[in-house]
Amino acid sequence: MSQIPSHCLVRGSINIDEFFHGKFYHYQPIHFLIFYFPTYIVNDVVRPGETISSTKFERRAGGKGANQAAAVAQAGGRVSLVGAVGEDGKWVVNDLESMGVNVDSVSVVEGPTGRAIIQLTPAGENCIILHRGANFALEDLPDQIVSHLVSSTHILLQNEIPWSGTLAYLEHAHARGIITIFNPSPMPPADQIRSFPWTALSWLLVNEVEAEGLLNSLGSQPSPSLLDGGLSTPAEWPAFPALSATYPIVKKLSSHQCLSSTNVVCTIGPAGAIAIIPTLTDAIYVPAAKLQGDVRDTTGAGDCFTGYLIAGLMRLYDSGTNTLSQDNATDLLIYSTHAAGMCVEKRGALESIPRRMDVDARLG
Ligand code: ADP
Repeated sequence: MSQIPSHCLVRGSINIDEFFHGKFYHYQPIHFLIFYFPTYIVNDVVRPGETISSTKFERRAGGKGANQAAAVAQAGGRVSLVGAVGEDGKWVVNDLESMGVNVDSVSVVEGPTGRAIIQLTPAGENCIILHRGANFALEDLPDQIVSHLVSSTHILLQNEIPWSGTLAYLEHAHARGIITIFNPSPMPPADQIRSFPWTALSWLLVNEVEAEGLLNSLGSQPSPSLLDGGLSTPAEWPAFPALSATYPIVKKLSSHQCLSSTNVVCTIGPAGAIAIIPTLTDAIYVPAAKLQGDVRDTTGAGDCFTGYLIAGLMRLYDSGTNTLSQDNATDLLIYSTHAAGMCVEKRGALESIPRRMDVDARLG
């Protein structure tokens, strides 16, 4: 029996991200003069009762569902997004469509689009207020879920929509044998983590902070097989502190009984990415890509990585390769770290996701 061509369904969030770049002057007396001079600049975010000026304002499309769907599309995968915006977010939907995302199942509802108000300091710190808006407007009814999943081979979920919707999509998809991928971002509370149906998950994608948060909530339950090879990084891996700190966490996480058959991938910013695939003997480490230029903006690097990883999985699926090997899994990570590396060289989240042909050209 021939299988249907790969198609990824993303049920997730769509936001408008509003960036306020701030800096303000502190006035202090110069010792022997009576005048006060602006003697130094403080890079800060606003505190209670305070008003500060923004030096620059930008509005961009965002939301993890939108970013990751756009990344799958830019990476060459067929992808549909199920989500909602208000009237004020129609331009975001148009942007997504122009990037190749099928937006037929994005609803326009009453009220505002989900919004992130982001204060940025030149020192790179940020403060974010999130308004969920239309992201919580949809009711995920079983009939609709089934009709959205009917031609899907992969499903990708994050945590910026109602938890009940995420659970319902995951359970329906798992029951249909669809490849399920979850990026628990933002991190759910501990009780939700503990009751999550982890065994329904084919892939867990996390960054190092999320890996640690999950492990703390699940509790460490190392099975005896975990201790094969121990918790230190394999001798042939580089001695990066971030890598040696993260590897034991990912190893403990992937050996937790509820994740023992789930593929776990953890990104570690400029230190690259680790994958632990239960069917493979060795853990995989891939360093971050060598950049051609400076780091401009790391926003959305993880989403870009995710989209490229999934598009790679979809290509494996289409080629009939349903078994992961050390080589093909390593290739997937190399491709994804290169795409994510190109993403950090440019500003923005959606705008900085590279096209597949450009990633191919970079990889030579
Ligand atoms: P998230 O955005 O979820 O926090 P990470 O910061 O771990 O994700 O970044 C995801 C991937 O982006 C990394 O695995 C790496 O490949 C790439 N990346 C992130 N920061 C850099 C950087 N400074 N230099 C090169 N690649 C980077």
